[in-house]
Amino acid sequence: MKFYNTLTKQKEEFSSIEPKKVRMYTCGPTVYYYAHIGNLRAYIFADILCRTLKYNGFKVKQIMNITDIGHLTSDADLGEDKMTKGLLREGKKLTLKNMRVLAEFYAKNFKMDLKNLNIEMPQKMLFASDYVKEDIALIKKLQQKGYTYKTNDGIYFNVSKMPDYGILWGGKRVWGESGARIAENSEKKNPEDFALWKFDQKIGFKSPWGIGFPGWHIECSAMGIKFLGEQFDIHTGGIDHIPVHHTNEIAQSECATGKKPFVRFWMHNEFVDIGGEKMAKSSGEFLRLESLKSKNISPLAYRFWLLMANYRTKVNFNWEALEGSEIALKRLYGLYKGLGKPIGKINNDYQVKFKEYIGDDLDTPLALTLLWDLIKDEKISNADKKATILDFDKVLGLGFKDLKEDKIPKEINKLVEARALARKNKDFKKSDELRVQINSLGYEIKDTPLGVVISKI
Ligand code: AMP
Ligand code: ZN
Repeated sequence: MKFYNTLTKQKEEFSSIEPKKVRMYTCGPTVYYYAHIGNLRAYIFADILCRTLKYNGFKVKQIMNITDIGHLTSDADLGEDKMTKGLLREGKKLTLKNMRVLAEFYAKNFKMDLKNLNIEMPQKMLFASDYVKEDIALIKKLQQKGYTYKTNDGIYFNVSKMPDYGILWGGKRVWGESGARIAENSEKKNPEDFALWKFDQKIGFKSPWGIGFPGWHIECSAMGIKFLGEQFDIHTGGIDHIPVHHTNEIAQSECATGKKPFVRFWMHNEFVDIGGEKMAKSSGEFLRLESLKSKNISPLAYRFWLLMANYRTKVNFNWEALEGSEIALKRLYGLYKGLGKPIGKINNDYQVKFKEYIGDDLDTPLALTLLWDLIKDEKISNADKKATILDFDKVLGLGFKDLKEDKIPKEINKLVEARALARKNKDFKKSDELRVQINSLGYEIKDTPLGVVISKI
C-alpha cells in the first residue's frame, strides 16, 4: 500500500513500526457545537484508512481525542476558548462542570453521526480534560530542556530552539515573513511560538504555573504519547491542521522525547466547501448530517458521495450532486438485492484490482468504478458477485451486509404475477405497462437467471 505522506510530500510505501500492527491517532472534534458535514469528511477518511489497513491484515489501534478545553477561536492561541464560547451561547455559567456537560452533549451527537455514517468506532475516544496531568508532565519536560518561556498570559514554546520547526509545512516558518501575529502578543519571541499553558482566572485547572488550561496542541501530543507511544505510525486530520496544530504537535513531542519522527505518516483530508468557501462551525452555511435527512438524503448517500472523490481532492457541496448519489446508492442496493440469496466465492481477479486501487492512496473513485463493473460483468455468477461486493464493502462501508430483503405487498405480487402471465402469452406491451405500474408504486423488477427479483426503489 502507498499513502501520501504530508511529511515527505509524496506517496510512500506503507510499513508499520511493529509488524502487522498500526498505531494511529485521529484528531477529533472540538465539542462546543454540532459537527458539520465538512468535519465528518475527516472521520470518513480516517475510517476508510483504518478499514483498508485491516483489509490488508493489520491490527489497528486507533485513538481519537474529543477536544473539550484549550482550543481557541484562532488555532494560533488568539481569541477566546471555543468551549467558553459554547457555554456563553447556551447561557450557562462558566464552570468546569458545565463545560463537561456541554462537551458530553455534543460528543454524544458526534458519536451518533459516526454510527449513522457506518464509521467503525476507534478503540478509545478521549476527553482532553481528563489528561491535564499528562499535559503538565509534558510541559515540565519541555521546560527542563529549555524550550519554554513565560509571558503574562501563559507558558510558550520557543520555536527558534528547534532547528527543523515547521517541517510538515515544507520546512518554512509559518508566519515568519509577515510577522503579523507578533503584534497581537508583543511578548512572544517569535511569531510562531505557541502556548503550552494559558493562564486563566475565571476557569481552569491547577498547575505549577497557576490556574489555567493546556494549549490545544499539547493535549494531542500528551494523549498520543500516553496511548500510542513516543513514536507511532499514522496521524490524521483535515488540511487546516498542517500549518499550526500538527506542526506544533511535532515540535513539542519531538523536543520532549528527543525521538524523531514523532509520527511516520501524517495524512490529511481536503475540505468540503460550500459556495466556494470552507464549511466551518463559526461562519457561513452550516450543514449537519441531520440537515441532509430533512431532504431525504441518507447519511450513507453522503458517505457514498464523498467516496466518489479522493480524500485529497476538495469537494464542493451541492444538493443536486447529493440527490444524485442518493439515487445511485439506492440503485446499487436494488441491484445487489436482485442478485438473489446465495453467497458464492470472492472473485480473485476483482479482489486483486480492488486491493490495488484502494492501496493506491485510498483511490475510492476507482474502487467504486470497479464495483459497477463487477455488477455489470456477465461472466460472473450472481452468487460470486454478491460475495465480492460484500468483500469490497469491508472497506467501503456502504452497508450492503445489513440490507434487508424488502417485504413485498400483496398488491405488487399480484402485478408481478400478471406480468409473468403477459410475458408467457408474449403480450409484451401489457408486460411493459405492468412494469411501469410496478415502478410507479415504488418497486423494481429484474429478470435474473434465478427468476424475477422484486426490490424497493
Ligand atoms: P474541529 O471540530 O474544528 O476541531 O474539526 C474537526 C475535524 O474536521 C478536523 O480534522 C478538521 O481539520 C476537519 N474539518 C474542519 N472543517 C472542514 C471542512 N470544511 N472540510 C473537511 N474537513 C474539515
Ligand atoms: Zn489534534
